[in-house]
Amino acid sequence: KDDKFKKVIAHAKEYGYVFQSSEIYDGLSAVYDYAQNGVELKKNIRDYWWKAMVQMHDNIVGLDAAIFMHPTTWKASGHVDAFNDPLIDNKDSKKRYRADVLIEDYCAKIENKIEKEVKKAEKRFGDAFNKDEFISTNPRVLGYQDKIDTILTRMAKSLEAEDLQDVKALIEELEIADPLTGSKNWTDVKQFNLMFGTKLGASAEHATDLYLRPETAQGIFVNFLNVQKTGRMKIPFGIAQTGKAFRNEIVARQFIFRMREFEQMEMQFFIKPGTQKEWYEHWKDTRLKWHLSLGMGEENYRFHDHEKLAHYADAASDIEFKFPFGFKELEGIHSRTDFDLKQHEEFSGKKLQYFDHEDNASYTPYVLETSIGLDRMFLAVFSRALQDEELDNNTTRTVLKLPAVLAPTKAAVLPLVKKDGLPEIARSIVEDLKWYFNVTYDEKDAVGRRYRRQDANGTPFCITVDHDTIENNTVTIRHRDTMEQQRVKIEDLKTIIKAEVDV
Ligand code: ATP
Repeated sequence: KDDKFKKVIAHAKEYGYVFQSSEIYDGLSAVYDYAQNGVELKKNIRDYWWKAMVQMHDNIVGLDAAIFMHPTTWKASGHVDAFNDPLIDNKDSKKRYRADVLIEDYCAKIENKIEKEVKKAEKRFGDAFNKDEFISTNPRVLGYQDKIDTILTRMAKSLEAEDLQDVKALIEELEIADPLTGSKNWTDVKQFNLMFGTKLGASAEHATDLYLRPETAQGIFVNFLNVQKTGRMKIPFGIAQTGKAFRNEIVARQFIFRMREFEQMEMQFFIKPGTQKEWYEHWKDTRLKWHLSLGMGEENYRFHDHEKLAHYADAASDIEFKFPFGFKELEGIHSRTDFDLKQHEEFSGKKLQYFDHEDNASYTPYVLETSIGLDRMFLAVFSRALQDEELDNNTTRTVLKLPAVLAPTKAAVLPLVKKDGLPEIARSIVEDLKWYFNVTYDEKDAVGRRYRRQDANGTPFCITVDHDTIENNTVTIRHRDTMEQQRVKIEDLKTIIKAEVDV
């Protein structure tokens, strides 16, 4: 598993997708830059989301709010008081950890044991094996499950009650050790606020303390009435936005899964109070379908319904994806009630209400939120796409099977040889196609090696110009995933490729 993840990171660098930020200065922890291919993949994911959410919904509009917001925003939202992670230090190693993550990792190990039991049983029972039945009846599995539930419930309760002493007690009772050194010598648990502070203004005494936004959502809430009025929006309606968010994460590992500067794609859907259950189910369903539409395998997704709810939510669920290091949150769907708008009403002294003509009454709307990390989605797509494939002739190839709609470069045009006028024809094909999608030209090395290079780069089509092209204006088009080749007319290339790569 670790191996796969290492390969993903190395491949992302080697093929110009993701670089460590400020690498020449040895990098900055949990900050990354997107390189020539990464920036295209990221843009394509963002566009794919925007199209599904904004373009395809006549009751959802976009917004691009500033990263800086009035500091009172974060008092109202609860971030100043409650956007904390419980942290704990190991006295021997001096390493800092998130107490909740240590406990969750401990539970993940028990979960691995369950998986092992399942695999064993699968072998034993063969075709007759029924996984759901096994999990719900096998005493050993039930025991493990019970242990996980007990631990997580206790942790959730202690955190909610701010009983940090009990979180430490739990870590000690479970004899959780420092994952790096094995030491069990822990400090007390402390709360740590995740917001980055900065200052606005030139002179020190007149400067205002600001925060870099830790989520994009608040920019939507404070603009709710502006958008509703100027857009003449009728409830239910949504506001969508993509943009940077910043969190001073304590445990910043796992590559672009958890970054200190990252991008979110969020949509807040404003609804009539009392309808939140239906809309919650609706958006859970709609968002899962969006993921499945990329064809990355239904078995790689699952819902995780929250028992412990954030201060603003009355229901919450994550869409989890199977990353190389296991199932982890990719997107959150939250029923936020009227918490945010009510808070902003209170702190700003302005009404943020909607007049419902049908009911002839005003109310503060409820909110249903879908929130996904663009970088996390990038990692999901990229790690799932990267595959080492055994070929018939006993060789292997590394191929990045990105969904064609998301691939940075859609086609590479390759002259078979660098003479006889083939490069000129190839270049003229590039000139024609570049109006419609990203296309590249490559004449270096034998054509087989060029195919491999494009495979590893994620390019879904290779177009090869050979001597027959001069005779009859046809080329071969090679499909990345099947490696099948097809003879087609040059004039049909645009239509054939667009059919596969257009959203
Ligand atoms: P986690 O539990 O992983 O810290 P969260 O529950 O705090 O995430 P939300 O506040 O619900 O996350 O943010 C919505 C989405 O933003 C997450 O589902 C995730 O995809 C993304 N996200 C959150 N924090 C980060 C981060 N530090 N780096 C990259 N993406 C992030």
